[in-house]
Amino acid sequence: MPAKLLEGKIIADSLKAKIKAEVDGLKTKHNRAPKLLAVQIGENASSSVYVKAQKKVAESLGIEYELKVLPETFSQAQAEALIKELNNDKNITAIILQLPVPKGIDAKILVKGIAPEKDAEGMHPENLGKILLGNYKIGPCTAMAVMELLESTKINLYGKEAVVVGHSEIVGKPLSLMLLNKFATTTVCHIGTGQRGTLPEHVKRAEVLIVAVGKAGIVKGDWVKEGGIVIDVGINKVGDKIVGDVEFGPASERASYITPVPGGVGPLTTAILMRNTVELFKAGA
Ligand code: NAP
Repeated sequence: MPAKLLEGKIIADSLKAKIKAEVDGLKTKHNRAPKLLAVQIGENASSSVYVKAQKKVAESLGIEYELKVLPETFSQAQAEALIKELNNDKNITAIILQLPVPKGIDAKILVKGIAPEKDAEGMHPENLGKILLGNYKIGPCTAMAVMELLESTKINLYGKEAVVVGHSEIVGKPLSLMLLNKFATTTVCHIGTGQRGTLPEHVKRAEVLIVAVGKAGIVKGDWVKEGGIVIDVGINKVGDKIVGDVEFGPASERASYITPVPGGVGPLTTAILMRNTVELFKAGA
């Protein structure tokens, strides 16, 4: 039987409705709104698309949104100084650094410079550490979006075989900790697994499979376990089409649930960014 589609937009809409109600309540209680500030260094077409979407979603939820575009020529020291200044601005709830940044700017240092209590993307080491300890309200948006999609299936992850393909700091690594926190038996595959040739072996065991690599069709449809859940994070341009990392057609014949690409994880990430902002506001209010 073909898999049920896990459509991020539907889940994002219900999450946004909850966030809006919460923001309305917080505004009444504190007489001010949460504010998300985005820092963009230089002009970049993909960043411009993201910031437009962020502004639209934030404002629809009653969250204030400000974009600071810094000149391409901004130095690392100037950017670090600006972030310090923003950390001390009481009117700002949360800060996000838009990626990519121009050559010569070290984004990792800038992200570490964002105060943990203003870290909209949950990427500060202190916030990542809270995930390790299983005590967190905010986290990297894509990893949190995957957990939200899994939760929407109402399937208990306790003891399930989960396989995460890709171990990036932004998706795979935090996600594997989140799955462990739910007592899933979690395997993380990466380039070493791929080079050793054991990727299919691991994937075939997965009752819950999450793929975040960025290589179209790296996971073949016939590797997917019958009845498994497939979350495909990958975004790849093939010709004029956007496809994921999993061969969707054959995989959807075997899985119980599968995310479409586009339309799966993507639409949820901005909603999670807003939820992080609201959580930071509540923690600091
Ligand atoms: P990334 O930093 O490039 O990480 C990719 C991961 O895949 C790395 O851990 C890499 O291992 C691993 N890998 C590469 N080749 C492999 C192979 N043959 N077998 C097994 N693992 C392999 O990418 P990312 O930022 O995590 O993003 C991954 C994908 O998700 C991209 O397509 C990106 O566009 C997409 N994405 C989507 C969203 C969304 O909102 N939907 C958000 C973020 C990212 P090594 O590090 O060891 O090389």
